[in-house]
Amino acid sequence: QNGRRIINFSAGPAKLPEAVLEHAQKELLNHQDTGVSVMELSHRSADFSRIINRSEKCLRDLLNIPDNYKVLFLQGGGTGQFSAVPLNLMGLKPGKTADYICCGSWSAKAAQEAEKFGKVNLVFPKMKKYTSIPDPSTWNLNPEASYVYYCANETIHGVEFQYVPETNGVPLVCDMSSNILSRHVDVSKYGVIFAGAQKNIGCAGVTLVIIREDLIGFASEVCPVIFDYKIQSGNNSLYNTPPTYSIYIMGLVFDWIQEQGGVDRMDKNAVTKSSLVYDLVRNSQGFYNCPVDESCRSRMNVPIRIGSPEPDEALEKQFLEEATKAGYLQLKGHRSVGGIRASLYNAVRVDEAQHLVEFMTQFMERNRK
Ligand code: PLP
Repeated sequence: QNGRRIINFSAGPAKLPEAVLEHAQKELLNHQDTGVSVMELSHRSADFSRIINRSEKCLRDLLNIPDNYKVLFLQGGGTGQFSAVPLNLMGLKPGKTADYICCGSWSAKAAQEAEKFGKVNLVFPKMKKYTSIPDPSTWNLNPEASYVYYCANETIHGVEFQYVPETNGVPLVCDMSSNILSRHVDVSKYGVIFAGAQKNIGCAGVTLVIIREDLIGFASEVCPVIFDYKIQSGNNSLYNTPPTYSIYIMGLVFDWIQEQGGVDRMDKNAVTKSSLVYDLVRNSQGFYNCPVDESCRSRMNVPIRIGSPEPDEALEKQFLEEATKAGYLQLKGHRSVGGIRASLYNAVRVDEAQHLVEFMTQFMERNRK
């Protein structure tokens, strides 16, 4: 690349490991001597069965998924699951009520969608800004709820849970779209975990659902067939044509994570990479700021503002322009919050985060007033 560094900090669809892209490129036209591309394989063929079964097995190994959990590969993205979760689980108890812990835009959207299918209880009042997680002792959890829902990492606001909420036996549902496989999770604490692939584990098109078996079979009669967990699990996610190529890429990403040293390595890298950026922000004497409470800062999505007390939007614009010119791509904050956001998903290397910090340091030195 003519000595020019390109580093992709996109929030999603996000960077994939180079080795995964190279592997996919190498066999794009001819998958393992089948003579055809993975894109051209029937989803009912033995070759594709091998791909989907391998992906599932590798995920089970990486996350230590207990045997009483099913793994589904569905379509419709994280947003599809905002509907699928209440359609499948509201009916677990007669009251058709669910508790929602809303600490950012994604959980708020999920709660709004769930209102179509049952009664939603927000466990604390809607927050004015999403920069913290209210203390669990203040949550108003309903013991009669069919499930408790939360988002482990709020991609837009950079708020990440550092613990698993306690629900006193009520099934816990978690959106892990933007931090799955970046830290250890005890799957047995969850009823359902779901995640869109396009951030940490692959390319857009496939959505992972990990569900405890005893929660399957309660779908509302109006649940669309493709979202019905019972039908999908009874058909090994092959009730209809699944996103075959995305499942293949996801499997390659799982292999890559395994080769790197598993979730343990991803976890350590996430701490190293995000600490590099947060330490710079902390030591910048107010030049850079992160609006999120220290206790719940995301290791995946780091939101940054320049200037205080009010952000200097002109300087932020200049930062983004200079960053793009220097090859640091897609650092713009989400349109709803502005500013800068560095997404440091699994595929972003430690040395790439170091380069970003060097660039940020130099920018600060040039522009400090
Ligand atoms: N949940 C989280 C945490 C997300 O970050 C996103 C998208 O960025 C979604 C859900 C929605 O995913 P999708 O666009 O695949 O529907």
